[in-house]
Amino acid sequence: MEYLAGEGLWLKGNLHTHTTESDGKLTPRECIALYREKGYDFLCITDHHRTRPGGEEDGMLILGGAELNNNNIAPRVCWHITGAGVQHSVDEIRPTDDPQKMVDALKAAGAFVTLAHPAWSLMTDENLRTLQGYDAIEIYNGVSDFYSGRGDSSVQLDTLAAGGRLVGITAADDTHFYGPDAGSGWVVVRAAARTREAVLEALFEKRYYATQGPALYSLQRLADGRIRVETSPLERILFYTDSFFSADRVHTAPAGGSLTQAEYAPSGIDTWVRVEGIDAAGKRVWSNYIDLTKKETAHAKR
Ligand SMILES: [Zn+2]
Ligand SMILES: [Zn+2]
Repeated sequence: MEYLAGEGLWLKGNLHTHTTESDGKLTPRECIALYREKGYDFLCITDHHRTRPGGEEDGMLILGGAELNNNNIAPRVCWHITGAGVQHSVDEIRPTDDPQKMVDALKAAGAFVTLAHPAWSLMTDENLRTLQGYDAIEIYNGVSDFYSGRGDSSVQLDTLAAGGRLVGITAADDTHFYGPDAGSGWVVVRAAARTREAVLEALFEKRYYATQGPALYSLQRLADGRIRVETSPLERILFYTDSFFSADRVHTAPAGGSLTQAEYAPSGIDTWVRVEGIDAAGKRVWSNYIDLTKKETAHAKR
């Protein structure tokens, strides 16, 4: 079973971006030009409570998008929820509405729904478990990293997964300031074609990875059950699972060298695996979860 490679195109995109339509510093036009310069293929502009329709603008695939926020439920928890690929406006949703209503409205609009930056939002596992129907959680959020120091939500994701819920894993820059936040995290999808429909299909089918720079070229579950990954040069490759300890979880390159592949044999008690890589500059790449309880069949060749 190959989860990533196969026929198709690697397309790079940001699923969470702000412009002057809400609290971002660049106009949508300037924003699109910037991401085009950075080599992005698609972009989702997710201004707060302001739906931007999908289309193609200045050569960039634009996924319809919006971010819905409720900052008012409790003094120390907020809910920020983004939709990519919204097919119609969700502007009727108010910032005082229930977060579940926000997810439901985005789903009804056809979106790939992501719970943004739970580490920044100080969300508990109960918060994540109570909300139903979302597709993914940001494991990395750039603006939370550079401006608040809480960009990494990997513990929230793995705690939820250890409870049995495997959601998609994304990275996004969530740029507002167009400083170091812009371009600090994105997803790479394996899409059948360079279209919005193909990008969305790849997101829903989890044919993508999240990254700050390094690449995953192949992620496989071999016939004997081992998990094998091929990557751009990395200093460490880690196989996270829902077991506390695993003697061969962490693979480290020899001094002065690098790793471009690694394998992991799941233990009898692992129910999932996800792969994370770190390059010499400290930049990370994250796979989606592989559900070991599922007998998976290969995707149709594309
Ligand atoms: Zn947010
Ligand atoms: Zn945002």
